[in-house]
Amino acid sequence: MDELAIRYQRHLAFDRIGAEGQRRLARGSVLVAGCGALGGAAAALLVRAGVGAVRLVDDDRVEPSNLPRQILYDEADAAAGVAKAPRAAERLRAANSACRIEARVERIDAGTIDALLDGIDVVVDGLDNFATRYVVNDACVRRGVPWIYGGVVGATGVTLTVRPGLGPCLRCVFPEAPPEDAVPTCRTHGVVAPAPVTIAALETVETLKLLLGRDDVRPELLSLDLWDGSFRAVRVARAPACPACGAGPARGTR
Ligand SMILES: [Zn+2]
Repeated sequence: MDELAIRYQRHLAFDRIGAEGQRRLARGSVLVAGCGALGGAAAALLVRAGVGAVRLVDDDRVEPSNLPRQILYDEADAAAGVAKAPRAAERLRAANSACRIEARVERIDAGTIDALLDGIDVVVDGLDNFATRYVVNDACVRRGVPWIYGGVVGATGVTLTVRPGLGPCLRCVFPEAPPEDAVPTCRTHGVVAPAPVTIAALETVETLKLLLGRDDVRPELLSLDLWDGSFRAVRVARAPACPACGAGPARGTR
């Protein structure tokens, strides 16, 4: 306990965590969906914060074009084309051996999401496409698991904390996934690392609040432009006709 008090002394001194909060974090279990720029940065912050268990899932391998922003990987990883999730887990175990870190190299889809959510308290979005986010959203709404949506492109980002039953879900705000060629992506419009790192930091703060059982979770959809240094918070509400969490016998409801 002394060792923990020394290690986490800056958390114990922070009034919104404290000793009891740190014990709660150690009991928490988080799924990080995607281990790229967003997920990798969020995973690093969560593991170092003393979260008890982190499950990393990604079916991708490290490439040279990942290195400018995916902070858990190095040139040797890219040269060897190693799988991201196990490599990220290895790096993060060295950062905090008390955290139970599990790596799964698999696709997130309707067939895998339920097993991935088993025992999970909060899901952090590190994904790069809307189709998979809807899979996560619908399963989280159905199971009552909170999740943090986060997306980036260029120097911009957006994030929303979804608490099923208590606020809007992703489909309340964006009922259907936009066609893939209709929205700018990091592939077509590029991305600079400060955008995913900032969104990952915001996702991490919300995750900590949820694990701590706090009621000051951010209710707005937050968009930011790192290049301009501008942040915009937009109030969003539950949509009664939401296909996932709305009233009535619709898909995704419990
Ligand atoms: Zn909804």
